[in-house]
Amino acid sequence: MTPKVAIIGAGFGGLCMAIRLEMAGIGSYTVFEKADGLGGTWRDNSYPGAGCDIPSHLYSYSFEKYASWTRRYPEQPEILAYLEHCADKYGVRGKIKFNAEVTDAAFDGTRWQVTTGGGEPEAFDVVVMSVGQLNRPRLPAIPGMDDFEGAAFHSARWDHGHDVTGRRVAVIGSGSSAAQLIPRVAERAERLTVFQRTPNWVIPKPDAEFGAGARLAFRYVPGLQRAYREWIYRYAEGTLYPALAGGWSRDLLRKRALGHLRDQVPDPELRAKLTPGYPPGCKRVIIDSAFYPALSRDNVEVVTEPISRITPKGVETARAPYEADTIVYATGFRATEFLSPIRVTGRAGRDLAEQWAGGPEAYLGISVPHFPNLFLLYGPNTNLGHNSIVFMLECQVGHVMACLPHLSGGRRLEVRPEAMAAWRTQLDAAMARMVWGDGCQSWYKTAEGRVTNNWPGPTPLYRRLTARPPRAAYRQV
Ligand code: NAP
Repeated sequence: MTPKVAIIGAGFGGLCMAIRLEMAGIGSYTVFEKADGLGGTWRDNSYPGAGCDIPSHLYSYSFEKYASWTRRYPEQPEILAYLEHCADKYGVRGKIKFNAEVTDAAFDGTRWQVTTGGGEPEAFDVVVMSVGQLNRPRLPAIPGMDDFEGAAFHSARWDHGHDVTGRRVAVIGSGSSAAQLIPRVAERAERLTVFQRTPNWVIPKPDAEFGAGARLAFRYVPGLQRAYREWIYRYAEGTLYPALAGGWSRDLLRKRALGHLRDQVPDPELRAKLTPGYPPGCKRVIIDSAFYPALSRDNVEVVTEPISRITPKGVETARAPYEADTIVYATGFRATEFLSPIRVTGRAGRDLAEQWAGGPEAYLGISVPHFPNLFLLYGPNTNLGHNSIVFMLECQVGHVMACLPHLSGGRRLEVRPEAMAAWRTQLDAAMARMVWGDGCQSWYKTAEGRVTNNWPGPTPLYRRLTARPPRAAYRQV
C-alpha cells in the first residue's frame, strides 16, 4: 500500500513534491496551503519590481523547462504564472486544500495527525514540510510604530490599494526586496527616504528581454535550453561559490561590486554611504542594476542615522524628522524560526521547537532524529546565496522519493542520531571556510551566531549526498 502523504505548503517545494508523486503514480497525498492561492513566496511578494535575480531558465524545474520566459531574469508575475502552469499541467491543483493552515503535526506512535486551524486531525503516514524560510515577515520593534497616521506595510504584504504616486514614502531597510522596490517607487513618489542600517554589496544584473526569435529557438532548437540552463548553473557555481568560500573569485567579486558602485553613483558622499565595511557575501549579495541609479535621483535621500522612533507624521532620527505618507518595512523575515508557528511533535511526545532550542538542524536539511517519516524541504542549512534554490528543492524531493519505498505498508523511517551528529560535524567543518562567520551579521544566523540557513558546500556535492540511498543513515522504527 502506498503511504498517504501530507505536504504542507504550495510554493516551489510543495508543488515539486506533489508533481513528483503524481509522476510516480502516487495519488494518495494532500497539499495543505494556508493562503487562498499557490506560489508561496511568489504569491506573497508582489511589491512593485518583485522578481528573481537567478535567471529564469535556471529558476525553474528541470523537468518542466519553459521556453516562454520573456526575460533573462523573471519578474514575480511570470514566476507565479509558471507555477500555476505547472500545477495545472501535472494535475496537482485539485489536491491542494487552500485556506488550510496547519497548526499541528503530531506523531501518535503509528501515524502523523495533521490538524488545520480549528479542524479535526487527519491521519497521514508521511509529512513533508515545505513552508519556506522567508514566509514570515519581520517587522522591526521601533517605538511609535502604531502611532503612524499614514499607510504602513511590509514589503511582503504590499498594499495594492494604496497608490504611492505623489506621496512622501519612507522605506526602512536596504536588502534585496528594498533594492527591487525602490526604483519603482522612486519613479512615482514625490519624495522617497531610504533608511539604511547597513549598506549591501551590489553587482550588476545583466537583464534582457527574450525576443520572439530567442523564445522560438529555446522551444525548437534541440538541446539549446538544456545547454543554456547548464551554462548558467555552472557559471554561478564556478564563479560565485568560490567567492563565498574564500576562493579565487573573492577579490573579483569585491572589485566587480566597487566598480558597479563607481559606475552608477557619481556622488562621492552617497558612494561612501553605500560602501559596505564587511566582506562581500557575508550578507546576501544584491544583483541589481536599477537600485543605485534610483538612490541617485533628486527625489531620493539615503539616511544612515539610526531611526529613533516613528511619529504620527513620519520617521525620526536623532538628527531630523522625515515626514512621510507611507512607510514600507522592507525589513526581512523571521528566517531562523523554521516551521514556526506549526507545533510539531515526534516520537514519545518530543517537541521539535524544544529539540531545536540550540538552533534548527536536520540531516541533509531534510530529516530530524525522533521524527519518523517527517521530511523538510528548504530546511536548515539548505539556503543558497549563489545559485538556484529550485536545484536544492529538487535534490530534497528526490531524496524523499528514494525514502518512500521504505515506508510502504505502515513502515517508518527515521534518521539515526549518529548520522545527524556526523552531518553536524561535516557542516561545521565546511562552515569554517565560509564568509558568513564571525563579524558577519545576516538573516542566515541565529541570535547566538549559528548559521542555520545556508548550505556551506558546492551544490553538486549536495546533489551527490542527497542521492545516496537512505539505508546507512536511517533506521526503521
Ligand atoms: P533582508 O535581506 O533581511 O533585509 C532587511 C533589511 O532591513 C536590511 O537592510 C536590514 O538592515 C533592515 N532592517 C531590519 N530591521 C531594521 C530596523 N529595525 N531598522 C532599520 N533597518 C532594519 O530582507 P529582504 O530584503 O526582504 O530579503 C530577504 C531575502 O529574500 C534575501 O536575502 C534573498 O535571499 C531573498 N530575496 C531574493 C530576491 C531575488 O531576487 N532572488 C529578491 C528579494 C528577496 P541590516 O542589514 O542592518 O540588518
